[in-house]
Amino acid sequence: MSVEPQEHAVLDALWAVQQLDTRLLDARARLSALDDGAALRAETETARAAAAAAAERLHRAQAALRDQELQLQTTETKQKKVQADLYGGRVTNPKELAALEEELGAFARARDHLEDRILALFDQIESLRREDTEARGTVAALEERLRVRVADFEAARREITVEIEALEAERAERAAAVEARLLRKYEGIAAQQAGVGMVAIIGGFCGGCRNDVPPQFVSRVRDGQVVTCERCHRILYLNGPGSPSRSGA
Ligand SMILES: [Zn+2]
Repeated sequence: MSVEPQEHAVLDALWAVQQLDTRLLDARARLSALDDGAALRAETETARAAAAAAAERLHRAQAALRDQELQLQTTETKQKKVQADLYGGRVTNPKELAALEEELGAFARARDHLEDRILALFDQIESLRREDTEARGTVAALEERLRVRVADFEAARREITVEIEALEAERAERAAAVEARLLRKYEGIAAQQAGVGMVAIIGGFCGGCRNDVPPQFVSRVRDGQVVTCERCHRILYLNGPGSPSRSGA
């Protein structure tokens, strides 16, 4: 066995780690991009508050109606009593009779006013009841959408988490095959370069930054040496996607 394939094996092992790291990056990005329903939850909360306010307006109007109906009842009772006094023959004093007439007139005006108010409240309650029903419907629809969204989120999160765990296990296995110092170097570069510490040479260019890779660099990589891009400092790999095949060399 010559030294060269051994050296190539080092780069191949590191390349395998890089491939897994890229997949891990992608999986973690997908995980953090998942919609956990926060916006929809906030929308639902707003709708709940609006529905509570609508219900409160309806209850207040209903209470006002009860109050006005009670006042009407009281006024009618008093009116009947005055009518009995006025027409019952018990009171004969003209001055007293005039006072009773006046009182009766005041009760009639009060009744008119109360009846107008009650009719207006009927209309108001009808429209408030519609608003209340509509607001409840909005909340119910949002709650259902939120339930589905959260369930989807949980399912997707479980799925990606399982995927990440499997990738991490495989990555650990692959990384164990790479010399510790080289792995540290690679990880240091990856930390500086958006998680990508090793790139393929594609058509004479660095697959990371598109900088020209001088032919002598390509030869050294072909020989299995650890060579980094002059511009982005990533470790260069040959025989990646789109690059000339190494087998012919
Ligand atoms: Zn580069």
